[in-house]
Amino acid sequence: MSEKGLLIVLSGPSGVGKGTVRKAIFKDNVDFEYSISMTSREKRAGEVDGVDYFFKTKEEFENLIKQGELLEYAKYVNNYYGTPVKYVRDTIDMGKDIFLEIEVQGAEQVKNKFPEALFIFLAPPSILDLESRLKGRGTESDEVIQERIKKARKEIKMMYLYDYVVENDEVEFAVERIKCIIKSEHLKRERVELKYRRALLELEDEI
Ligand code: ADP
Ligand code: 5GP
Repeated sequence: MSEKGLLIVLSGPSGVGKGTVRKAIFKDNVDFEYSISMTSREKRAGEVDGVDYFFKTKEEFENLIKQGELLEYAKYVNNYYGTPVKYVRDTIDMGKDIFLEIEVQGAEQVKNKFPEALFIFLAPPSILDLESRLKGRGTESDEVIQERIKKARKEIKMMYLYDYVVENDEVEFAVERIKCIIKSEHLKRERVELKYRRALLELEDEI
């Protein structure tokens, strides 16, 4: 039986740079898959359905919730965001790692269902940096930005649920830190030990 893949969750406050860091990670050749989320929000300029998100209407999204098709979901500033469960389960069952980039309410739901997953919190160098990043992105109205800033302050308090905290000072440094964490996770005694236990059992059978 092959070892299950690792479920990797990158989360953190809105505007901290999760999307930016995730895209930079997947620009390189990595040996884990990305779970494309579903959302009911409007497509932004340059976004592609099935690449950035699977774009759904609110009604379609609510049907998916009812049908149990989502591993987790959250209503975030009036729009739904969620992770399709099938792709995640199929990928980890095949022994491949899968990477989720989601907000903190969703990460909390994943923690309840998959406590063994790897939880990485992306943190801003400071709260002021976070606010200026949200404003600088220029994709939302002032009202939405204010709502997201209020939310971000609460989200930072959720850090205690995570295994690692990565500061997003420079994107390339954050990417390196995250890759190192994933590599180290694979070397954890609990993950490696099983392989040696099985080998020892086989040797004993032969004797
Ligand atoms: P999130 O997905 O967490 O909401 P984004 O990836 O959309 O955040 O990033 C928010 C804004 O911050 C964007 O304008 C992005 O270019 C900028 N940003 C991301 N990472 C950094 C960084 N390390 N330094 C400066 N600006 C950054
Ligand atoms: P945006 O509208 O900026 O693309 O995303 C808003 C927030 O939703 C970001 O914090 C992003 O990480 C989060 N998000 C994206 N996909 C998912 C998802 O599948 N589930 C949850 N819970 N949050 C998501």
